[in-house]
Amino acid sequence: MFNTRIKIKDLLQQESFGNQVTVMGWVRTFRNDQFVALNDGSTNTNLQVVLGLGEFSDDELKRITTSAAIKVTGVVVESQGRGQKIEIKATSLEILGDSDPEKYPLQPKKHSMEFLRENAHLRFRTNTFGSVFRVRHSLAFAVHKFFHELGFLYLHTPIITASDAEGAGELFKVTTLPLNNATQNSDGSINFKEDFFGRATNLTVSGQLEGELAATALGEIYTFGPTFRAENSNTARHLAEFWMIEPEMAFCDLEDNMNVAEKFIKYIIKYVLENNREDLDFLAQRLAEEEKLLPQEKRSELGLIEKLEFVFGNNFERITYTEAIEILKECNHNKKKKFQYPITGFGMDLQSEHERYLVEKHFKKPVIIYNYPKEIKAFYMRQNEDGKTVAAMDILAPGIGEIVGGSQREERLEKLETRMKEMNIPTEELWWYLDTRKFGTVPHAGFGLGFERMVQFVTGMSNIRDVIAFPRTPKNAEF
Ligand code: ATP
Ligand code: MN
Repeated sequence: MFNTRIKIKDLLQQESFGNQVTVMGWVRTFRNDQFVALNDGSTNTNLQVVLGLGEFSDDELKRITTSAAIKVTGVVVESQGRGQKIEIKATSLEILGDSDPEKYPLQPKKHSMEFLRENAHLRFRTNTFGSVFRVRHSLAFAVHKFFHELGFLYLHTPIITASDAEGAGELFKVTTLPLNNATQNSDGSINFKEDFFGRATNLTVSGQLEGELAATALGEIYTFGPTFRAENSNTARHLAEFWMIEPEMAFCDLEDNMNVAEKFIKYIIKYVLENNREDLDFLAQRLAEEEKLLPQEKRSELGLIEKLEFVFGNNFERITYTEAIEILKECNHNKKKKFQYPITGFGMDLQSEHERYLVEKHFKKPVIIYNYPKEIKAFYMRQNEDGKTVAAMDILAPGIGEIVGGSQREERLEKLETRMKEMNIPTEELWWYLDTRKFGTVPHAGFGLGFERMVQFVTGMSNIRDVIAFPRTPKNAEF
């Protein structure tokens, strides 16, 4: 048996001294031919391993370089140095894997995020990415815990679909047809009957429509899986491949939907505050240092931990789209023509500068905007009595902008079909979706939370590329 090790995180929590343990990990630093700072990924805190002078050969010592993998057996002793309670006094040392210091790309110094993205295969070995990925894991676990405790079923919706849920058309095609020699129809279009599925297919942009089928039988479901959008937006908040959580609930209206979404966000934030404090403290400090380089007005008023505690402890502001437009129209920022897109009035889509103004300057807390004009929202959203708006809601978070998009769904067959025709959504293709409205239709609602945007919010990382292991963005699919 090889795996006789104790994880450093567990070891550091022990109070007793004198027992013998084995640890394995990667060398972060090695000083004075004596002190190894060892990291095994279980925590950001390195374990100090002390090699007694003269007890190990020069040959061995030379191989203890940054990022070399080692196995150490030794005795747990009280640390003489400052900064740690315990350390290991090594009795045996084995080099598991050498790391040539001339060639290892990461130095024990600060690297830029851009440089680390180019070395995404190794960036897990930095403190920042260790913390980010431990927090990401905890958030994912908390997502499942939250829904499981409420009795939601985890539904796996397909990744390859023939439908475009949003009708937005930013799809990655899935095909096995030869790129240069696909058979064509008489009008010159590609004959997808020859294709693998006998029809045109794409990677999913959302599991919602399938989610509705399950929710209107199983009651409450959620999805948590990858979604794909071929949108050419090179921003710090968009990925071409991202993970989305989409709960769908039968017997639920827009207000119930907002309540669940708010409770959900608070729950997962509380979970990481309680379980990832060390990583969050590290990330908070990292963020504070990063923000020191910004001009005063761009810095956050609250530190990372205070921000999370604030979100957890306060109600989200809830305003209608119409109220949001009023506030924006009347604000000095608009009157001084400081928005790139001036506020024209009801009907315009809110740009991220508007969302950020509302959240960061006006309310200074997360905001839920609901009842949007039907023209700027998807076909399946429930039409309100006013004939102008639909029961949609977006949740906006400080520093991120939109984090959740959701709605009550149109459960009335006739209204849904009329709207689909107005918006040129093919009703024949979505016959299975319309069946839910024919057989025991019920009020139901749901939302989508972009997981990476949530991880960004919690970790304070400013670029979405730094909260997913291997980001997929325009012109970039390395690793
Ligand atoms: P945005 O206006 O920011 O592009 P959207 O209106 O396209 O968002 P939805 O279609 O409502 O977003 O998707 C639901 C959620 O998925 C969003 O609230 C956001 O958190 C997340 N999301 C959407 N597009 C992306 C993307 N390209 N990368 C990462 N997350 C995304
Ligand atoms: Mn979008």
